[in-house]
Amino acid sequence: MKITQKRKVNRYMSFFRNNFGFRVPYQVLIDGTLCLAALEGQVRVSEQLIKYFQCELKLLTTQCVILEMEKLGSTVNGALSICKQFAVHKCGHEKKPITASKCLESMIAENNANRYIIATQDPSLREIARAVPGTPILYLHIRSPTLEKPSQQSNELAGLNIKTSIQSQGCTMERLRLIKKQELGLITEKKPFKRRRAKGPNPLSCKKKKKKTCIRESVVNVGASSSHPQRTNRRRRVKIALHIRQELASRLNVSKTSD
Ligand SMILES: [Zn+2]
Repeated sequence: MKITQKRKVNRYMSFFRNNFGFRVPYQVLIDGTLCLAALEGQVRVSEQLIKYFQCELKLLTTQCVILEMEKLGSTVNGALSICKQFAVHKCGHEKKPITASKCLESMIAENNANRYIIATQDPSLREIARAVPGTPILYLHIRSPTLEKPSQQSNELAGLNIKTSIQSQGCTMERLRLIKKQELGLITEKKPFKRRRAKGPNPLSCKKKKKKTCIRESVVNVGASSSHPQRTNRRRRVKIALHIRQELASRLNVSKTSD
């Protein structure tokens, strides 16, 4: 089996598992038309289907299907012998058999509660099965088993189920909040939603304002860095070297004596 085909089967069956409660071993209801196609294509049904689904299966047919084939006579003897390989499932028409298609239709009824996979080559039965949500449909395409894409009805019901489960979850949360409030006196009221808005331009994206420097400060703070504004008001103490001070002192003394 091709990888794409394998993925397709897994995807479709996981859809039915998640939305309609299908479980392994899957129950496959097989009718006479599929057995006839299998005979013509020389397909070993049980072997091929297990290979196709890659899991355990319950291959079933009904008494109505077998009786209908028996009525058709020797022309379908080969197909009948294939059909008789499968387990005969109770259909409720044991006393009054009906046609095979009507029998399988009644088995899936309104919502396919027993989760059957319908295996048929009959286009009208496939059409009926499509209308029943949660019914996988299988047929033989040339010689290989093929699972139909989930029908629109199945997809619609699955979508509806998801929607209601989300809504019920919401209701449960609301009820829990009320119980908490009543029993524990906890205030679990939701805060009103407040949209967060930008309060101003992003400071990181703005250019810094240039600070005005007065001339006096610039004179006093010669060489002082502009990044230290607290130092601007301080007078800077200038250290004079010892030999310069001595020179200055000696000059002052000379000027005093000359006076
Ligand atoms: Zn029946």
